[in-house]
Amino acid sequence: NKQIVLKDYVKGYPKESDMVLKTSSIKLKVPEDCHDAVLVKNLYLSCDPYMRNRMSKIEGSYVDSFTPGSPITGYGVARVVDSCHPNFKKGDLIWGITGWEEYSLIKSTEGLFKIQHTDIPLSYYTGILGMPGTTAYCGFYEVCSPKEGETVFISAASGAVGQLVGQFAKLLGCYVVGSAGSKDKVDLLKSKFGFDDAFNYKEEPDLNAALKRYFIKKGWSRLACRERKLRTTSSSRDNERSLGNVLPDGIDIYFENAGGKMLDAVLLNMRNHGRIAACGMISQYNLEETEGARNLFCLITKRIRMEGFLVFDYYHLYPKFSDMVVPLIRQGKISYVEDIAQGLESAPAALIGLFSGRNVGKQAVVVAHE
Ligand code: NDP
Repeated sequence: NKQIVLKDYVKGYPKESDMVLKTSSIKLKVPEDCHDAVLVKNLYLSCDPYMRNRMSKIEGSYVDSFTPGSPITGYGVARVVDSCHPNFKKGDLIWGITGWEEYSLIKSTEGLFKIQHTDIPLSYYTGILGMPGTTAYCGFYEVCSPKEGETVFISAASGAVGQLVGQFAKLLGCYVVGSAGSKDKVDLLKSKFGFDDAFNYKEEPDLNAALKRYFIKKGWSRLACRERKLRTTSSSRDNERSLGNVLPDGIDIYFENAGGKMLDAVLLNMRNHGRIAACGMISQYNLEETEGARNLFCLITKRIRMEGFLVFDYYHLYPKFSDMVVPLIRQGKISYVEDIAQGLESAPAALIGLFSGRNVGKQAVVVAHE
């Protein structure tokens, strides 16, 4: 059984050499007297930014540290090869937490999802139909309280979560701008995912000025986007102003994936009563000392609601989410871009690539084809 093992706890940026490919000769077997275990053959593994946290020695966090010397664990898609649980039969396809190895003995089926729609690519259950998709869904619809015509900004927008948040926001009729770390990703946001605009944050010396270009500008696209017949004359603007409705211009919803300097710049460009869904802060995960946000006072002056959330609290909504998104996938109304590395041995490089933006779209690893 080939496995990817974490050598030791990691400090700073993780390296490929922090993980090693090993072969275990232990024969995995479902115990005879058990009621709740499955032996699975892993097909796809998911590379997710939160796994960096687990590479450190952490205490009192929402996730446990990995155990050095043992295989890494994470989300994946697998086929059941043996089971002692009545709901999981040999041959079933599942997604959930498994091991970074060819075969895994999963000792509790709690948290495993049976895959129902097999006409959809199996790798999607590491992304759009798995944890990142659920994150985008609950983060956008449950945390952001979005409304048609609002302005939305998303950082790390082309990734597993961001590309979906942007498409959900477009389906609702929002004005959507994303930031990403390369020209190709920016093109993808505009041409494939239908964002109204996008920019490469790495080429912007002043993020505040960059955001102002898209959110605080003359005439203003958010009015057009609302599909309301408001003319941008001074009288209609005054009318809106008197309703307390649109001024000052800026961002209604920020879907936060990056943190650090981006959050600081966004705070300066939020509208009154805006919402920030704090989903992740990937710019901070490898720092020994995290950067403090300097513009938090804007939360008060602009009456902004900033709410952190964890997808684990929302899995009860998975059936509702799946019912919504599966038809959208089938009808081609939603796209999903994946970056699939080949073979278990490529998993360490794929994982660390998340922190330099090497991945284009959802990063997964194919371990076996059925
Ligand atoms: P992605 O697929 O977006 O991959 C990570 C991307 O982050 C990279 O491709 C890179 O894109 C970007 N990035 C890396 N370093 C930096 C940096 N220093 N500054 C800005 N961007 C950076 O990952 P996911 O979509 O899976 O995750 C997105 C965010 O959501 C993460 O912060 C993650 O921790 C969080 N998350 C939170 C969950 C929750 O329950 N709250 C659940 C799942 C994810 P680029 O080239 O554009 O820089």
